[in-house]
Amino acid sequence: MRPAPDKRGYFGAYGGVFVPETLMTPLLELEKAYAKACRDRDFQTRLAELAERYVGRPTPLYRARRLSAELGGAQIWLKREDLCHTGAHKINNALGQALLAREMGKHRVIAETGAGQHGVAVATAAALLGLECRVYMGSEDMRRQRPNVWRMRLMGAEVVPVEAGSRTLKDAINEALRDWVTNVNGTHYLLGSVLGPHPFPMIVRDFQAVIGREAFGQFRKDTRGLPDLVVACVGGGSNAAGIFTAFVPHERVRLVGVEAGGVGSEDGQHAARFAGSARPGVLHGTYTWLLQDLDGQVLPTHSVSAGLDYPAVGPELAMWRDSARVSFTQVDDREALGAFHLLAESEGIIPALESAHAVAYAAKVAPAMPLKAHIIVNLSGRGDKDLDEVARVEGREL
Ligand SMILES: *Cc1c(COP(=O)(O)O)cnc(C)c1O
Repeated sequence: MRPAPDKRGYFGAYGGVFVPETLMTPLLELEKAYAKACRDRDFQTRLAELAERYVGRPTPLYRARRLSAELGGAQIWLKREDLCHTGAHKINNALGQALLAREMGKHRVIAETGAGQHGVAVATAAALLGLECRVYMGSEDMRRQRPNVWRMRLMGAEVVPVEAGSRTLKDAINEALRDWVTNVNGTHYLLGSVLGPHPFPMIVRDFQAVIGREAFGQFRKDTRGLPDLVVACVGGGSNAAGIFTAFVPHERVRLVGVEAGGVGSEDGQHAARFAGSARPGVLHGTYTWLLQDLDGQVLPTHSVSAGLDYPAVGPELAMWRDSARVSFTQVDDREALGAFHLLAESEGIIPALESAHAVAYAAKVAPAMPLKAHIIVNLSGRGDKDLDEVARVEGREL
């Protein structure tokens, strides 16, 4: 069975299209163009070719023997999305959508970015395919993420500071939506995770599903079996949906999504949508689990990793949670930092702080599992971007 949403874009009770009237037409146009691209051999060939020769796919499925031995339990495998061009899984989706934008005859892509990782992936894909690119970014985020602003500008993107509100991601999203409404004819809004109105959660999942397809085949080839557990960190949910999708039909594979536990369980101290004060509501065009107060005001979030610091989660993950196909857990800032060092020292791999949340959970459960059990961890990105932040929170001089 294909894990698609229904015709109205619902995953069980979640998803849908909650946007102003003016955006209904471009969303329908996008849905049609995407359906056509799925059937178009040339489109699929071009995407597969770029994935191989530009992104560096397939990424390895690496058996972390030293880490596993140190923990003394299950065998841990890492799906190495950190080795993708630009250092994370986000390029899989950015490239797919940029190609789709060109297919639709758009000459311009826009995006919003918080930490800058999605902005960098979009600027990269736009440079590669010769598209104009504008990225909205809160001015506060721009100050905190200077190297990424510089990267985007080097690749020819225009980075526009957003001075409204808290000058962070959600203000940048509002600005990007305004741009899209105004310039809808020549512009594609390149959304970065399995969020937003239908068809975005489906499209982003499909472009990321290459992760799980590869991991499934690679694991089977090496072991002739299935893993016992697959773990991924969950911000919006794109790397998790990307690796889980191939395993969802195989009921005996346990799937665990790891949210940011931050520094505590009070409102504002974490980004754990499936714990604490979250309940379903509408944010940025979709109905899903959302951190909000009793009046429906979106709550502030915190995580040491910027990529997990978002108040909502993709609608398909909300459905998986309801059906208990995926269980969710939280790892706090301190545990994630511990895993960051553990992987660096045991394997010579410095993970993104987001990915370190998934590593931390695997390290927690592996010792109690038998030696012959297998865990696949989706290593969504590399940690180069986080070196300054880790030094800062640990009070070290670089
Ligand atoms: C952005 C990001 C994430 C979180 O986004 P998802 O959509 O949940 O995957 C996780 N890991 C890395 C390395 C990121 O850059």
